[in-house]
Amino acid sequence: MDVGFIGLGKMGGAIARRLAARRPLAVFDLRPEAASAIAGAKPAESAAALGLACDTICLCLPTSADVRRAIFDGGVLEAMARGGMIVDMTTGDPTATRDMAAQIEAAGLHMIDAPVSGGPMAADSGTLAIMVGAPDALFARIRPLLAEISPNIFHAGGVGAGHTMKLVNNLTSAGNRLVAFEALTLAAKNGLDPARCIEIMQKSSGRSFMTEVIFPKFILPGKLDQGFTTGLMLKDVTLATKLGVE
Ligand code: NAD
Repeated sequence: MDVGFIGLGKMGGAIARRLAARRPLAVFDLRPEAASAIAGAKPAESAAALGLACDTICLCLPTSADVRRAIFDGGVLEAMARGGMIVDMTTGDPTATRDMAAQIEAAGLHMIDAPVSGGPMAADSGTLAIMVGAPDALFARIRPLLAEISPNIFHAGGVGAGHTMKLVNNLTSAGNRLVAFEALTLAAKNGLDPARCIEIMQKSSGRSFMTEVIFPKFILPGKLDQGFTTGLMLKDVTLATKLGVE
């Protein structure tokens, strides 16, 4: 399997670093400095050049529109040999994903979705959750590569199901985040020590990823940059509510 990776930002960069430590990997990003920062990987001159060199290409880009640009306008689809596989690790729009997958299948290649949860820290430690939307045969084909990223691989259903699952997760996570922030503000304004509140909530029914990870590791020590932008969270919640409306 000749593997390439497009999109080397906070999340994609962390996944690509992990893969490059385990196998030969070709990489491409619109920012050349992001590609040269992946130790052991081979930077490609363009998305099309990566397509020529690889039979399996993972992408982790901000939105499904960026994925469409990279594959269709960037020349990946024309460059890749027929039978090749495109693995979209973006948190994407399930409807857009199914449309792209149908066009890609018609061109003789395959596209599946495999978004991730856990952030760059979990990519570094090999504990990401990977949610796959793919037919059974393609899931079996990609599983060994995904296992190099993390053992937490879940087959959610057919194409688009991984992206749907990821939106379900992030809607829950965003809701938990807002409620936890408001509740801890209420505690602080009523004279409680936020650190003590988090300690108590970790053993109580209000516990979540916010009380177990986000508050102790980031908010309480004053680290407001958690490697995930508010803009991307807004994109995810907007996609989830759009799916609900559809
Ligand atoms: P980011 O903005 O840090 O990185 C995006 C990268 O894509 C940039 O390096 C940019 O130059 C590159 N890029 C954009 N368009 C391109 C194109 N057409 N061709 C090549 N490169 C291109 O974003 P991120 O935080 O890494 O997030 C990427 C995706 O992963 C998003 O869909 C996000 O929702 C999802 N995600 C992020 C996290 C996180 O904690 N950061 C966690 C889970 C999922």
